[in-house]
This record gives sequence, structure tokens and C-alpha cells, in this order.
Amino acid sequence: MKPVFIVFFGPPGCGKGTQAKRIGDDLGLVQVSTGELFRKHLSEKTRLGLKAQEYMAQGALVPDEITIGMVRERLQQPDIKTGAIFDGFPRTDAQARALDDLLSEFGGKVNMVIDFALPIQVSRQRLMGRQEGRADDRPEVIEKRLNDHAEVEARVMPHYGAKPGLVKQIDANRSIDEVHEDVRALIKGVLC
Ligand code: ADP
Repeated sequence: MKPVFIVFFGPPGCGKGTQAKRIGDDLGLVQVSTGELFRKHLSEKTRLGLKAQEYMAQGALVPDEITIGMVRERLQQPDIKTGAIFDGFPRTDAQARALDDLLSEFGGKVNMVIDFALPIQVSRQRLMGRQEGRADDRPEVIEKRLNDHAEVEARVMPHYGAKPGLVKQIDANRSIDEVHEDVRALIKGVLC
């Protein structure tokens, strides 16, 4: 069977990480979250983690070269054989193109993009209320991440929007369970 690759796209706080984790466990797809990979590198104090921290603490994007290199390395691990859900990647046009190239090495491609739609004021409320102790959940950094998301969307979505039917929108302004049901139905449709 060909591997299945899905991109979760949406503003900070839209719940894509939560959903990726849950659906991944449920349907046997691995979650590849660049934010989490960076935080893991940082907790292990790797060179990559320390470099990424300079950008993350400001709410700025980590340079493409570093980010793409980290994803390339992650995709070489054996658990990716059946596919993956990308959460927080790609965030630039260069990352989107690099992902296509990386997946073609698996004989795969991006099978679906799920776009988690959430009003900016709801994102803000959720991030302000988050108690995970993340260094980038400070109010001024939250504002920057929220503002930059429009730019990220303008850079990434044209890459996928050009392919008819690839992008599926989901209303992320609902309970975790309700969103999960929709995500599950969409992904099941790709798996069979
Ligand atoms: P959120 O979506 O809540 O902003 P993430 O965990 O996805 O959080 O990302 C946290 C930070 O990690 C980002 O603000 C950025 O600095 C860095 N990062 C994550 N993914 C990428 C990416 N694809 N390209 C560049 N930087 C990234």
C-alpha cells in the first residue's frame, strides 16, 4: 500500500497538534510536528535546538534550511513507511516544494491538506489561556505569531489550492470531539 501524507494547516491555537496526535494514535499515522521537534531538540540542547530557539523565542520562523533538514532527517525513520501527518509544516513556499520532493522519494505525495479555520480572536483567547509554559506563549510573541499567520497562509496555500479538491476546510471553532469526528471522516476517505 502507498503511504498516506496529510498536511494540517491552520493558525496557532487552532488545535491541529491535538488533533494530529489523536488521529495519529487512532488511525496509525505518525505525527510530524516541526514545533515539537524543535522543542525536543531544545530540551536535549542539541545544536539545532539552540539555533532554533533564537527564532522561536521571538515567534519568528526558523530558517528553511534548518527546518527542511530536520524534516528530511525525521522522514528517514522507519515509522514513516505507512505515512504521516504534518503539523506546522510547511510554512513557506520553499518548505512546500521541499516536502513534495521529499515525499516523491517515498513514491508518495501530499494526499490531503486539512485547513483548520478559526477566527483570530478565538486563536488569541486560546493562546492567552494556554498554560503549557511555552516560552513563545508571551502576549507580544502571541500577537506576532497570529499576525504572521496570514502571511504564512498566503505563501503556502497557493501551492495546494491550485490542485482541485486537495484542500479540505474544517471549522475548528468547535469542541475537540466534534473536530475530531470531521478530521477522522476526511482521513478515512483518503485511507480507503
Ligand atoms: P504554533 O502553531 O502554536 O505557533 P508550533 O509548535 O507549530 O506552534 O511552532 C512553534 C515555533 O516553532 C514557531 O513559532 C517557529 O518559530 C517554529 N517553527 C515551527 N514550525 C516551523 C516551520 N515549518 N518553519 C519555520 N519555523 C517553524
